[in-house]
Amino acid sequence: MPASSSARLTIDLDALAHNFAVLRALAPGAESAPVVKADGYGLGAVQVARRLWAEGARAFFVARLSEGEALRAGLGHPATIYVLDGFTAGTGPRLAAADLTPVLSSLAQVDAAGAFAAGEPLGVALQVDTGMNRQGLTPAEARALAGATPSGLKVEVIMSHLGSATDPADPRSAAQLAAFAAVRPLFPQARASFAASAGMALGAGYQFDMVRPGISLYGGGPEERPDPRLRAVATFEAPILYVRDVAAGQMIGYGSSNMIERDSRVAVLAAGYADGLIRAAMGASYAWFAGARRRVVIVTMDLIAIEIGEAEANPGDMVELLGANVLLDDLAAAAGTVAHECLVRLGGRAERVYLGER
Ligand SMILES: *Cc1c(COP(=O)(O)O)cnc(C)c1O
Repeated sequence: MPASSSARLTIDLDALAHNFAVLRALAPGAESAPVVKADGYGLGAVQVARRLWAEGARAFFVARLSEGEALRAGLGHPATIYVLDGFTAGTGPRLAAADLTPVLSSLAQVDAAGAFAAGEPLGVALQVDTGMNRQGLTPAEARALAGATPSGLKVEVIMSHLGSATDPADPRSAAQLAAFAAVRPLFPQARASFAASAGMALGAGYQFDMVRPGISLYGGGPEERPDPRLRAVATFEAPILYVRDVAAGQMIGYGSSNMIERDSRVAVLAAGYADGLIRAAMGASYAWFAGARRRVVIVTMDLIAIEIGEAEANPGDMVELLGANVLLDDLAAAAGTVAHECLVRLGGRAERVYLGER
């Protein structure tokens, strides 16, 4: 590992391509349409989508209109780009100009898109709420719409989203599946899309025509724990600034809750929560240095301290805080959050390196 003076986020697009292949093999009968919202979960939507296009992906999902516009401008390939925010007031011309497909998720959006499409036909996806209660037409609204879709709207995809798929034993998924199966025939010309990463893993019955993997592309396990089939895409490393010895019974960092229990050698790293490493993971997470896991003792805005035992360490040596040895799902569990949040926070200040760009 070359020494560096600043933290580094390495994005391994070969690992991304590997994960895409794993997911496609899991859902061989469905199109895999990668979700690259929030700038590709913080890893760079354009770089991620360009590599996945090279691997055969032809449709992508973003959340915001502006994300769709940026992806359209940067991708350089004629992919279908779905915008999950749908059709909000006044956005018709921008959606049309960037050739984006809105995911309509309320009757108000259907009406607004229908009015716009009276002048200019518009391809759309339609989201139905099958029990997550976040967004989407109710099944009754979808039923009413099926016979009376505004003439300019071409419903290309009918979709829904699962609320509890990370727990295969949760009965809510089967109930949502039944609700979706009842709605889907109302739009026979549309393709059906139901599952994200976790839903795909529930089996072929959940996969329909198109699946929408996000976190598992980036290495997060579908059940919120490490999945050995998936590779780490993001590696975050920070250089050691100082090495110091702290005696048993001393406090380290702010406050007086971080007691060092034994005489310890501590390495202080040039990274902190300002780089997106979640402070709440302090004490529960680990780093990887000199071939072993090391306890993360404190996380402050700009500095992180880890215990390194007897290891030889020098300023400039790099320490892994996320990657092949510090697993994304472990970090998320230590921080009390989901892998998605750990990823999207990274990289603001760190140097970025891409491997395997296309
Ligand atoms: C974010 C999102 C996904 C991807 O979810 P993952 O858990 O990251 O796989 C798929 N579909 C919708 C509607 C989403 O909002």
